[in-house]
Amino acid sequence: MEMSVPKHWKRFWNRVDISNDGCWEWPTTSTRQKGVIYLGGKTTLAHRVSYRDFYGVDPGKFVVMHKCDNYLCVRPDHLSLGTVKENNADRASKCRNGDKGWLGVINRNRHTQGTKFARLMGRVDINGDECWPFLDNDKSLYDKITINGQYYLAHRLAYEEFYGIKLKEVDVIMHTCDTPKCVRPDHLCVGTLSNNSCDMVRKSRHPVGKLTPEYIKIIRERIENGDKQREIANDFGVDQSMVSYIATGASWSYV
Ligand SMILES: [Zn+2]
Ligand SMILES: [Zn+2]
Repeated sequence: MEMSVPKHWKRFWNRVDISNDGCWEWPTTSTRQKGVIYLGGKTTLAHRVSYRDFYGVDPGKFVVMHKCDNYLCVRPDHLSLGTVKENNADRASKCRNGDKGWLGVINRNRHTQGTKFARLMGRVDINGDECWPFLDNDKSLYDKITINGQYYLAHRLAYEEFYGIKLKEVDVIMHTCDTPKCVRPDHLCVGTLSNNSCDMVRKSRHPVGKLTPEYIKIIRERIENGDKQREIANDFGVDQSMVSYIATGASWSYV
């Protein structure tokens, strides 16, 4: 029997790296994105297209499940057809939170190596029920991580990667859990100094003008690392001039 190849076949498979023995992942630009392809005037989930093309069966109202648990995978032998009920049972048995759960996001991306997300999560302890602390190699007071020569604060990077957005310099990331090295996305919130949804959190953590010796040490370390003074000031809820005074030793020189 000759297999009829759909028109989009080449376009579909050109986008996928099928050179490995494991999952064949649909490329996405953010970790929160689903694998989709634009076909016949509408957006369709790529793994459903793969299933239909390969097995010649339209999944219709059925769910195309991933045996591999990797939602971005389009490898036909990793896919199987099931009902919504079966899919829910499968999820429950694997203790997943559904595809919106943060562990699900990590799970889906566990096959990707070398990405910023993978590098970050490789240094995070996600086994706790509550906070997911960033694990330090050194004795740094804050959560710095260097990836491909670029330097990030782990909790800011985590926010960007999990929520799929690019933070602006003026955005302040606060911890609702009061654990500075925690990178669990639902423990982080974003605001700016003038319009801060996390104002209460910020005020209770870093009361303006109430810097402690510990914070001063962190600020000094960040200045030495070349962080912008404005960025540091934002993170600590103080005026930029204060950071400048700390840098020159005009303030807090005794710490
Ligand atoms: Zn797979
Ligand atoms: Zn936390």
